[in-house]
Amino acid sequence: MHILGIVGKVVGTFLLVMLITGIILVCFAMVYIKTVILPQAHLDANFDMNLTSTIYYMNQETGEYEEHFSLHGTENRKKVTYDQIPENLVNATIAIEDERFLTHNGVDWKRTLNGVLLMFTGKDIQGGSTITQQLIKNATQYDDVTVKRKILEIFTALDFDATYSKEQIMEWYLNLIYLGGNCYGVATAAENYFGKDVSELSLAECASLISITNNPTLYGPNSNIRITNEETGEVTTGRERNKQRQELVLWKMLDLGMISQEEYDEAVAEELVFTRSEDEKKPSTIYNWYDEQVITDVINDLMEEYGYSEQLAENMVYSGGLKIYACVDTRIQSIVESVYYDQNSLVLTSSKGQDIQSSIVIIDPEGNVVGLAGALGEKTANRVLNMASGTVRQPGSSIKPLSVYAPAIELGMITPASVYADEPVRVLNGKNWPLNNPQTYRGDITVNTAVEVSSNPVAVRILEEMGAETSFDFVEQNFHIDLEESYLSNGEVKNDYGSSQLALGGLTHGVSVMDMAAAYSVFPRDGVYIEPRTYTKVTREVDGVEEVLLDNTETEEEVILSTKTTYYMNEMLKNVVSNGTGTAARISGMTVAGKTGSTTANNDRWFVGYTPYYTAAVWVGYKTPERIYASNNPAAVLWQKVMSQVHEGLENKDFTQASGLTPVQLCKDSGLRATEACLSDPRGDRVYQMYLFSDDVPVENCDQHTMVDVCTDSPILDADGNPIEGLYHLAGDYCPREANEALGITAGTVKPIGVLISDDSSNQYTKAYLESQGSCTVHTAEPEPPEPDAYDPSTFRLEDQSTWPTQEQWPGFDPTNPATYPTVPPEPTDSGGSGGETAEPSVTPSPAPTPETPPEEPYVPAG
Ligand SMILES: [Zn+2]
Ligand SMILES: [Zn+2]
Repeated sequence: MHILGIVGKVVGTFLLVMLITGIILVCFAMVYIKTVILPQAHLDANFDMNLTSTIYYMNQETGEYEEHFSLHGTENRKKVTYDQIPENLVNATIAIEDERFLTHNGVDWKRTLNGVLLMFTGKDIQGGSTITQQLIKNATQYDDVTVKRKILEIFTALDFDATYSKEQIMEWYLNLIYLGGNCYGVATAAENYFGKDVSELSLAECASLISITNNPTLYGPNSNIRITNEETGEVTTGRERNKQRQELVLWKMLDLGMISQEEYDEAVAEELVFTRSEDEKKPSTIYNWYDEQVITDVINDLMEEYGYSEQLAENMVYSGGLKIYACVDTRIQSIVESVYYDQNSLVLTSSKGQDIQSSIVIIDPEGNVVGLAGALGEKTANRVLNMASGTVRQPGSSIKPLSVYAPAIELGMITPASVYADEPVRVLNGKNWPLNNPQTYRGDITVNTAVEVSSNPVAVRILEEMGAETSFDFVEQNFHIDLEESYLSNGEVKNDYGSSQLALGGLTHGVSVMDMAAAYSVFPRDGVYIEPRTYTKVTREVDGVEEVLLDNTETEEEVILSTKTTYYMNEMLKNVVSNGTGTAARISGMTVAGKTGSTTANNDRWFVGYTPYYTAAVWVGYKTPERIYASNNPAAVLWQKVMSQVHEGLENKDFTQASGLTPVQLCKDSGLRATEACLSDPRGDRVYQMYLFSDDVPVENCDQHTMVDVCTDSPILDADGNPIEGLYHLAGDYCPREANEALGITAGTVKPIGVLISDDSSNQYTKAYLESQGSCTVHTAEPEPPEPDAYDPSTFRLEDQSTWPTQEQWPGFDPTNPATYPTVPPEPTDSGGSGGETAEPSVTPSPAPTPETPPEEPYVPAG
């Protein structure tokens, strides 16, 4: 008794503890369900799927939206309403999937409990789902298998069942289930497997069709998978397994009293004839690239906004009665199509025989995608690979403005006048790196020139000065381009933090044409990023009221670049088109700016360009990447082909001009204020004028140029003995500095020129080089004085002054003193006269005395 009493007490205490623990746990569970689960346990959807969806285009003239085309029944996406579904199909579904469907309240507690127990044994947590639960699973993206997920699904199912009728739930379920191949929903599957409308299916066919959904790979009649039964060794095909499961379905229907024994026998005996309906092979309507993009965008946005599964979102777009208002500009889209639907617009074939491909996206200042093509050539199918938004490719140099120049200007690191060396940055694997295209280096150049000629070393130098991480973050956060942080490829971790990736555009994955167009549209939009949109809103009529499902009417404007950066980028990218690598994109009478891009392997070519009206990105390459052999940039050519038509009739204008700009004369070699020396460079004028914001104007004068005196009579010769233009030996002591009449020198040969101070041995235009060449080789001694013209004394006439000799010709001549008059001297005698030391005038040429020794006294000729 006593022991029993103690045991009872212990057991009692134990039970009490258990009870209290249980109550606490239940309380926690209730709080969790109330605060976490219930607020989410609601699926807001109208699944009615037999309605026409319509895409509207705006009429550019009236500003009114007009029906462009309706999506209903345009493809292999038929949906049914409950009254079109055969009773046998509904019963077959109930029999095999959820036999208490008509009586439970969304959740089958008996099966759920089984499922929970199975979960604890580590088995299928998804077991025991009712049709309602499966519908919710199919309609949402909740495919992660967690306990919370399962609990949420249960409560959502309870909520759903209380809201909608069993018929609605059954209809939506049958329209959503996956039945193998490309079939979602029983209507499509009926066409696909039996070539029939779903309402015409026999009992045998209904059972066969619904058998597939449990596992289409296993039970799909067209499944190619052969399975060997381990016990019997029997090998089965998909069709045989489908038949086995069909018979199970029929047996369940018989068991549940849904069909008679006679019906059962007949259905089991019926031969299933699988045939494809002929008209399903080719879609009746081919969407244009723009509509296809709109469809994709609406599907993605419905999934994101409402958590719908892709399948449900697709169903809604194709047959959910949606009204979609597109942003297309029909004039521009038709220009795009006239160029892009014609493979002859760009004729190139790869060495493996692929036709060249291209894609284009055009965006307006409001962020609307106004024209788009996802491939080149005739479009023959729907929902095909869209290379405008569905693929990413290496951007090459076209990434430089986004990853190097705009961020470096924005950070105050550089201005267009900054000078960097266009010389190898380092030696990589024994080779100079990076190479330029063409493979020459230019020495010190300004950022302005570096952008114009697409210098690789300058881009790398600035990137490395800025830091790859800064650039990476700028591109991702400001230009909204996805870069790779870490990616495992063949055991190697790859990422986009590097000079090759960010400065030269060799990204791990790449960038889409849509993203490039959106990023560049920031430049003509005064530094504002707007996420591109293809539709303004999506609505649906509910009980006669148009309800907005997706609202894109308000675009979010994000200022990512300053006025200064935008102005500098526009000026530099204009130069690319007027003088640099992008000249093929020029449009007569329109301001164009842009950047080319090509990758080292030359598998991708880009031109991303803009005018004050539109921004367009064009990619050219092969579907399977291969080297492109083209003499020009084919992307710039296609860009020009489309955009010149787009801009027809539009008035030329410039990008927004900034205030606070100062014109400044700068030296191309130093980037500092130009001096006389920069103007006198032997290569020509090294001075250019640039407009800089006043705080960017350099205060120092050029420290690279200096003046030296050279002698123009003494050119420096090249290896072939030809004079090098503009280069002369340094002036020596005897080179005539200026005109000297006394010496008969009409012009000095010494000229000041401005040469570089650098001792760079590869550059001839340096002081060091001239010094190494020595001074003038012509004027090596004091010049001889010129000899006066000989005077013929016989021509002397006192009355004609023009016949008188000069003092040089006849020293001492004095018209008033006849003794000094020139006379024909007598033949020289023995030691005729005095002054033998002085030279005598003579009738023969060169008798004149040298001016260095003029006679002090008038000379009196002998005789
Ligand atoms: Zn200079
Ligand atoms: Zn000289």
